[in-house]
Amino acid sequence: MSTKKSLLELASNTTPCDEYDPNSMPVDQARQYIKAFLSPVTKKENINLHAALGRVLAEEIRATHNVPNHDNSAMDGYAFNADDLSEELTRLKVTGAIFAGNPLTGSFARGACVRIMTGAAIPTGADTVIAQERVETLDDSIQFKDVPTRGANVRLAGEDLQAGQIVLNIGHRISPADLGLIASLGIGEVMVYRKIRVSFFSTGDELASIGNPLETGQVYDSNRYTLFGMLSRMGAEIQDLGAIPDDPLLLEKTLIKAAESSDVILTSGGVSVGEADYMKQLLQKLGQVLFWKIAMKPGRPLAFGKIGNAHYFGLPGNPVAVMVTFYQLVRQAMLILMGELKPASTPMFNVICTTPIRKLKGRTEFQRGILYTSEDGNWQVRTTGNQSSGVLSSMSQANCFIVLDDDVGNLEAGTSVKVQLFEGVI
Ligand code: AMP
Ligand code: MG
Repeated sequence: MSTKKSLLELASNTTPCDEYDPNSMPVDQARQYIKAFLSPVTKKENINLHAALGRVLAEEIRATHNVPNHDNSAMDGYAFNADDLSEELTRLKVTGAIFAGNPLTGSFARGACVRIMTGAAIPTGADTVIAQERVETLDDSIQFKDVPTRGANVRLAGEDLQAGQIVLNIGHRISPADLGLIASLGIGEVMVYRKIRVSFFSTGDELASIGNPLETGQVYDSNRYTLFGMLSRMGAEIQDLGAIPDDPLLLEKTLIKAAESSDVILTSGGVSVGEADYMKQLLQKLGQVLFWKIAMKPGRPLAFGKIGNAHYFGLPGNPVAVMVTFYQLVRQAMLILMGELKPASTPMFNVICTTPIRKLKGRTEFQRGILYTSEDGNWQVRTTGNQSSGVLSSMSQANCFIVLDDDVGNLEAGTSVKVQLFEGVI
């Protein structure tokens, strides 16, 4: 697929090309197009390590010293030099003790050993540690049967990280393990890209906000809450612009306001057939926006483009479709916008589905699944039941998507299916 075509060329669609069919766009192709039109943030800021979880590195982290910094003991035991032992001599005098953080005072006597605790520095001259459980203590000596190999139970300096080595690259998103790794280098501040600013609003005359009574024909606006949750998890700076009625003037005002201050604008509703005209005209007036029918269920209608400098995603209105399109199309785009160079895809693996599945060929379906352990201890999946894109309780019950590719049709119970765990696994 050519990524060189401009958004404008695609949006005007005057020269439709073979691979670009806005009315039937495979999920992967939509991902590729979106990726081609993203401008990640470039502004950097130096922040305290505590605040860096989930942020993306704007400068690489290099090891300023070896980790560990010195050879040290992996066990509570006794340190000695392996040369000082022979088949006959497996008895050594204990001449001192070393604790973690307290190196041996004085020098290590060859032909003897010192008591050593886990993490304590191996004294110069010693090269091997025997675990305390393997020795017999006799007055001021120890004796043992099995002679350990040279270097046993010694953690070598630099075995985790070597001085000068690049530990984490630019574009890496910081995990809990990374926080510890950076701390192990004694680094307390990191240079990261600034947070991305995301504004969102719901559209629809039928939407009631929490706190107001529900009139006939109204529904409470749930999309702003699921979006709030998903965006919060991603560490975005969020601006909630409310529920906006299907009124072109109000919608225009809100879109302009959002575009002024955001890297990303998300809306829900108003992009499906029948309603598209308002938003379509508005978006075409305010920016460059493409309207796609994605070959996926749920989540068929999707608008994507730019309004000013802001990236725009017009999500469908149905509550499940909002979440599915967010996870399948928006999340990865946001990670790239945050500066992440290679966002990992959410892992997928095969398990047996214990319920039958109804599925039409020709589109990718993301059915909601519950991954559970069967009586024999194996992981299996079952569907949550009603797969309508309005049934938000299915998302709440589910812990995974059952991903059914285009060419898959109805499936009997007992078939192997692909599942994709929801984020937040660790
Ligand atoms: P639309 O895409 O605007 O045609 O909306 C599709 C369906 O989703 C309709 O049944 C809407 O009532 C519903 N819907 C749209 N927006 C929301 C929202 N913010 N919260 C809950 N349901 C919504
Ligand atoms: Mg609507």
